[in-house]
Amino acid sequence: MTQAVENVTELDAMVIGVGVAGLYQLHRFREMGLKVRAYDTATGVGGTWYWNRYPGARFDSQVEIYQYWFDEELYKSWKPSERFPGQPETEQWMNHVADRLDLKKDIQFSTRIESAKYDEKTGRWDVVTDDGEKINTQYLVSCCGMLSAPLDNRFPGQQSFKGEIHHTGLWPKGGVDLKGKRVAVIGTGATGIQVIQTIAPEVGSMKVFVRTPQYAIPMKNPKYSDEDWSYWSSRFNELKERVPTTFAGFDYDFYDKAWADCTDEERKEVLEERWEEGSLALWLASFPEMFFDEEISEVVSEFVRGKMRARLGNDEKLCDLLIPGPDDYGFGTHRVPLEHKYLEVYLQDNVETINCKSTPIEEIVPEGIKTADGVIHEVDAIILAVGFDAGSGALSRINIRGRDDRSLKDQWQQEIRTAMGLQIHGYPNLFTTGAPLAPSAALCNMTTCLQYQVDWITDCIGYANNNGKKVIEASKKVEDDWVRHHDEVAAETLVVKTDSWYMGSNVEGKPRRLLSYIGGVGNYHSKCDEVAKSGYPGFDIA
Ligand SMILES: Cc1cc2nc3c(=O)[nH]c(=O)nc-3n(C[C@H](O)[C@H](O)[C@H](O)COP(=O)(O)OP(=O)(O)OC[C@H]3O[C@@H](n4cnc5c(N)ncnc54)[C@H](O)[C@@H]3O)c2cc1C
Repeated sequence: MTQAVENVTELDAMVIGVGVAGLYQLHRFREMGLKVRAYDTATGVGGTWYWNRYPGARFDSQVEIYQYWFDEELYKSWKPSERFPGQPETEQWMNHVADRLDLKKDIQFSTRIESAKYDEKTGRWDVVTDDGEKINTQYLVSCCGMLSAPLDNRFPGQQSFKGEIHHTGLWPKGGVDLKGKRVAVIGTGATGIQVIQTIAPEVGSMKVFVRTPQYAIPMKNPKYSDEDWSYWSSRFNELKERVPTTFAGFDYDFYDKAWADCTDEERKEVLEERWEEGSLALWLASFPEMFFDEEISEVVSEFVRGKMRARLGNDEKLCDLLIPGPDDYGFGTHRVPLEHKYLEVYLQDNVETINCKSTPIEEIVPEGIKTADGVIHEVDAIILAVGFDAGSGALSRINIRGRDDRSLKDQWQQEIRTAMGLQIHGYPNLFTTGAPLAPSAALCNMTTCLQYQVDWITDCIGYANNNGKKVIEASKKVEDDWVRHHDEVAAETLVVKTDSWYMGSNVEGKPRRLLSYIGGVGNYHSKCDEVAKSGYPGFDIA
């Protein structure tokens, strides 16, 4: 496929990352007959589902919709074991996809892309890998992931720790033996919750460092039989049509009656019904008003709090620490986690909570974790469930230089901007998936959004090729218009009033902007479709 010219690999298109997006992008480019190659730091495919091997890792999108929609036979050829399969099964599924499409022969594993520089004379990108390989490509597509830049060097003194310390997003392939050990878990977001509930039965003791409590929904995860998968397979076309049109790219959507038009009983009934679903339906398929209206948000939040309090036996200290209060933030303004017997873990005698708001972590010392009150919490292992530099992190870690040698990292340190999450003004022929300002991270079921973005990018490049053009760049106006629209939609919501990784506030100095588009997946698709149908107005195609 590739051709070495003076030790440079010449390509029509290059894909960075082989998760959900990268695999599909590689497939689409190959179908177009382009000379294409994909690269990934990992030793295998899967992206998120390759790296996140921590105990209890699984997704919160139901498996019947966390799918590819371009091939019905592919859908039918894999039989998931349960509604929310764990990481090992999802990684196997991604390998199944890659093998079925024979993609691996065009993927270079164990290779980090270090830099990419746009050459204005040729309209092509010069890319360099960590082992010095040079690649020259016309189109560069980032499928680097929204949640793929782990904040692994988070606390001073980490290197001094005598025991084992692991970030959940870089979990060792061979696993970590935690049996009988004194373990610290830092972080109680979606990942922390999964880890805590999973390792609780095996560790000797556990100290959980809690800074931000979470509203959590109990997951219902029934096993799927062959008959179950036949049922979902029989609905393939219906689901394929439906998911791209809903608010969050799931099969469910908001309740069709406004909050104001419902009686208290009806509201309660809707919330109870969604709660019983054991999925993200309470968040993404009940009342959209909870995103906008503080009073309604408080009613829904209190509904969830009540459920959580009961499970904590109304223990005042635990409730205060583990349940967000009215002054913290409203339900759904953070990524909502699903859990299984998570809260009950805190009722175990060998589990201790440390309040990181009142006593923040100061540093890691050889024996364990030192908090601001001078206490050293001695442990054998530390699990960093502290998340990612979301949205912009993976791309910023590559030295990307566009027209006039502008640096993407430097620009995004000032302001994070994209045109529909698909291109960035000043970086011709660079396309992005899973990038800031496109719907993502549970505000979109990611397989829905990523496939759409790959299709849009492929069609755009196809359009240029068919018209004998070689360079595509979003104009400043297109980007400005999108950023304005994105911000206007976001400003209406309570999400922007809350500190969270959605807003970039988990990374010091990161400019504040909602990283995911929150105008709805259906709406996003219509807007992007309109651009494509109208011949890409506002995109400079030369
Ligand atoms: C724990 C966890 C749970 C999640 N649960 C859900 C869920 O329930 N529902 C949902 O929709 N989404 C969920 N997500 C989001 C998830 O990231 C997406 O669903 C999806 O897997 C992203 O696919 P992707 O192809 O965009 O990127 P990724 O899967 O992140 O893949 C990106 C790849 O790019 C590679 N890469 C990055 N930079 C470079 C570089 N410089 N050089 C070479 N390679 C590079 C990485 O190694 C990685 O393999 C979850 C994420 C996490 C972390």
